Amino acid sequence: MRDFTLAKYEELIEAIGSTKYKPMSVLDYLSSPGGKCIILRHDVDRAVERNLAMARLEAEYGVRSTYYFRHVKDVFIPEAIEEVAELGHEVGFHYEVMDKAKGDKDKALEIFGTELEDLRKYAEVTTACMHGNPFARWSNRDLWKDCDFADFGLMGEPYFSIDYSKVLYLTDTGRTWADRNIRVKDVLENPDNELSAKYGKTIRSTDDVINLVKREELEQICILAHPNRWCDGMLGWSKELIMQNLKNVGKAGIIQYRKLKE
Ligand SMILES: [Zn+2]
Repeated sequence: MRDFTLAKYEELIEAIGSTKYKPMSVLDYLSSPGGKCIILRHDVDRAVERNLAMARLEAEYGVRSTYYFRHVKDVFIPEAIEEVAELGHEVGFHYEVMDKAKGDKDKALEIFGTELEDLRKYAEVTTACMHGNPFARWSNRDLWKDCDFADFGLMGEPYFSIDYSKVLYLTDTGRTWADRNIRVKDVLENPDNELSAKYGKTIRSTDDVINLVKREELEQICILAHPNRWCDGMLGWSKELIMQNLKNVGKAGIIQYRKLKE
C-alpha cells in the first residue's frame, strides 16, 4: 500500500483513536498542555482541496486539528477557511511576512497585522505559525526578536510556544518522517534534543508513526502533516512524487538531453 495517501492518514487517525492519546489542535494544547495527547498541525501551503479532504476526514472521526492558512492567492479562499472552521477545526495564520517585506521588519509587522485581520474576517484566529522558507536570507523567526505576537491578540506560535524537548515533533516534510534533523534545523530552535535524537532516525513511514502511537510510550507528540502531500488519486500522487524528486529528475533530464545532442 502506498504511503502518504488519505487512506493512510485515516489509518493514523484510527490508530490514535484506539489509544489513550487525545488528538487536539494547537490552541487546545496551549490552553491545557497536560496529559497524553497528540497535537495535529497542518500547513495549508497549497492545494486547498486536499486540505479540505483531510479536514473533512478528521471531522468524521470527531478529531479537531489546526490548519494554518497562508495569505496567498491560491490558498486564501474564504469559503475554504470558513469550511475548515465550521468542521470544528482551529484556523491559524501561516505567515511569511518577512519574505513579503524582503526582510524589512517594520514593514513585515504591518503586513502581519493586515493579513491577520483579513483572516479574522472568516474565522477566529488565536495562533499563528511561520511558513519556513529555507532559501530566504531572513527568517520569519526574526520578527519576534523584539516584538510580541501577544500584541496581535495571539495566544501562541507552535515554534515558540511548544517545548519540543518534551513533545516529540514529527513532520512529513520531504514525504518521509525521517531525517528530521536536517530538515528541522531551520525551523526549530533546539532540534538536537534527546527526544528527537532517539526517535528521529527510526521513524520513516507512516506505519512507523502508527506503531509509535500504538506503543503509547511517549506522553506527547506533535504531528505536522502537509495535506497537499497526501492524496489518493494515482495521478496526483505521482505528481507529488515527481515534484519531490524534481531536482534529480531535472539533473537526469539534462544529462539525457546532452547525450542526445552529442
Ligand atoms: Zn508552510
